[in-house]
Amino acid sequence: MALDNTWFSEPHPASGSAFSLQIEERLFAQQSPYQYVEVYATVGFGNLMVIDGCVMLSQRDNFLYHEMLVHPALFTHPDPRRVLIIGGGDCGTLREVLKHPGVEQVVQVDIDEVVTRAAEQYFPELCESNQDPRAQLHFADGIAWVQNAAPASYDIIIVDSTDPIGPAEGLFAAPFLQDCLRALADTGLLVQQSESPLFHLESILKPLQRTLYQAGFAAVHTLHFPQCVYPSGWWTVTLATKTGDPTRFREQDAAAKPFVTDYYNVDIHRASLATPELMRRALAE
Ligand code: SAM
Repeated sequence: MALDNTWFSEPHPASGSAFSLQIEERLFAQQSPYQYVEVYATVGFGNLMVIDGCVMLSQRDNFLYHEMLVHPALFTHPDPRRVLIIGGGDCGTLREVLKHPGVEQVVQVDIDEVVTRAAEQYFPELCESNQDPRAQLHFADGIAWVQNAAPASYDIIIVDSTDPIGPAEGLFAAPFLQDCLRALADTGLLVQQSESPLFHLESILKPLQRTLYQAGFAAVHTLHFPQCVYPSGWWTVTLATKTGDPTRFREQDAAAKPFVTDYYNVDIHRASLATPELMRRALAE
């Protein structure tokens, strides 16, 4: 919500906290068939995308989230070639995936075209790889897409979704995750944004891990990283494998990555695998 004309604020009532950014102006606002999409110009964080009052990304710090959603997963898989992104309409995840030269095909399925059109206009740097011949952009429900996917048709599925309410609720539920497992090849893995370890450990992170195991994934591991524009400033992604160990990755390849990042590197990858005590206790239950 806009506090007044000069501040955008996202309250998190459950924790009695809010995150605010000083804004210059609102650049875009549109009610799509699915959600209310806004873009603000901020004073210190570049452009800011907001969906249904929740911060999606800022130009200043989205590299943290996008790099940590993509690179640990792609360096964990032995040879990722076919990648499916569910959600991810701002295209920042797509851009990171396409930095991997071995990737042959990336299919992105976001339910809402309005998000991608707004990103093209106000976050052009995130959309710079959209014309890559390996990329396919579809606007459809990710749940139905995976339901209809051929068995073993993807090496990696990346769930880059909004919070688990509204159209994204089903992306955290067992039927969707079972369909993902079926759509993955034998060495396949899924990675999903899994919210804050401080604010959503009991309400989202723990149920998601449990649901991934119930869906049939062999092993699950949650990685964490800073993300100052999201509630609590601390965020996670959860890796789930069909067969392998999600804590083992191609360390030599990660150390020799042939592309530039701002946060991810081989040491960050190792460090983000370490589980803080509060998570270890809760997730062991
Ligand atoms: N980084 C962001 C975050 O964690 O706040 C997520 C960014 S991305 C903009 C989230 C996208 O998920 C949105 O564009 C939304 O349209 C999409 N989405 C939500 N539910 C979906 C569904 N069922 N199928 C496909 N895309 C969906």
